[in-house]
Amino acid sequence: CLSSRGARIQQITVCVRKRPMSRRELQSKAVDIISVPSRNSLIVHELRNKVDLTKLLEHHKFRFDYTFDELCSNMLVYEHTARPLIRTMFEGGNATCFAYGQTGSGKTHTMGGEFCGKVQDCTTGIYALAAQDVFAELSKPKYREMGASVTCSYFEIYGSKVFDLLLPDKPMLRVLEDGRQQVVIVGLTKMPVKKVEDVLGIIEQGNRERTSGQTSVNIKSSRSHAVFQMGLLMPDELEPCGKCSFVDLAGNERGADTQSANLQTRREGAEINKSLLALKECIRALSRHSSHLPFRGSKLTQVLRDSFIGGEQNKTCMIAMISPGLSSVENTLNTLRYADRVKEL
Ligand code: ADP
Ligand code: MG
Repeated sequence: CLSSRGARIQQITVCVRKRPMSRRELQSKAVDIISVPSRNSLIVHELRNKVDLTKLLEHHKFRFDYTFDELCSNMLVYEHTARPLIRTMFEGGNATCFAYGQTGSGKTHTMGGEFCGKVQDCTTGIYALAAQDVFAELSKPKYREMGASVTCSYFEIYGSKVFDLLLPDKPMLRVLEDGRQQVVIVGLTKMPVKKVEDVLGIIEQGNRERTSGQTSVNIKSSRSHAVFQMGLLMPDELEPCGKCSFVDLAGNERGADTQSANLQTRREGAEINKSLLALKECIRALSRHSSHLPFRGSKLTQVLRDSFIGGEQNKTCMIAMISPGLSSVENTLNTLRYADRVKEL
């Protein structure tokens, strides 16, 4: 395996992206309450009704590594978030990029996991942009001489079950932990890919599996985590020596679930909460170089164990997505506070 160039400091980047107002929001004259005054700060303008019925304007100011306003392109977001992770993978580390936020805030749009029937639809998302960089790097003489290659996996975690998105009818897979605490997803497809088009085909195939049987794209896919991985493989080795994982997380919204009479929905909500909490704890443990890693707290953190161990050369990036509208203020503040906590030591 490739050795890393000396010890580097564990790196966690936390960014926020605000999506533009939708046509529907504009038509209904929804109020945009988010401003992005600089490249690393963001303000939520919250209008509160006071007891005496007057209105109070509260400003909540946040700082992050990067803040992207509604005019930023996927390319710009990619450059500051996932692009540095590709290097990590080629240096033999595990790099992970999370898209976090409420349903409808732009996670899937950013990652490129939207299935609209055409391959072109996923070409501008982070998955595809990352694939372009991976193949550009792989074509360098150094890697060509080594005979390095790339494989892709794409799976979904729903409840505490793992489903392979690259097999027809997305079969459920077992997750096992061996004596050395290595976590294995038994039978997970690791598709060899030779060029960007191969990866686009895989993403399209997975996206189609992900949303199949749903009346609306957002119903079930918003209740599951999708994980797209690229691994760097050396000849004669079975396991990749460097890996990049991109995770389109389940919607973090609360509220509706707790009141819902539907047991299934409540269970889903509880499971999502549990996994997002475990994720936060794992990233925090990583940033504190803590030896206790609570990765068994959920299926999500269990299958991503590699992302949190291995120390020095691993890198993590979180992109917290927010909706601009006043009606989303509670979820937006929750998202920003979560992102804030991830970073805080
Ligand atoms: P999520 O995956 O978080 O539920 P989506 O990615 O599906 O949210 O986004 C919800 C809607 O908003 C989609 O129609 C998507 O195309 C649109 N959208 C999200 N982010 C942006 C953006 N930055 N620019 C333009 N449209 C966006
Ligand atoms: Mg989505």
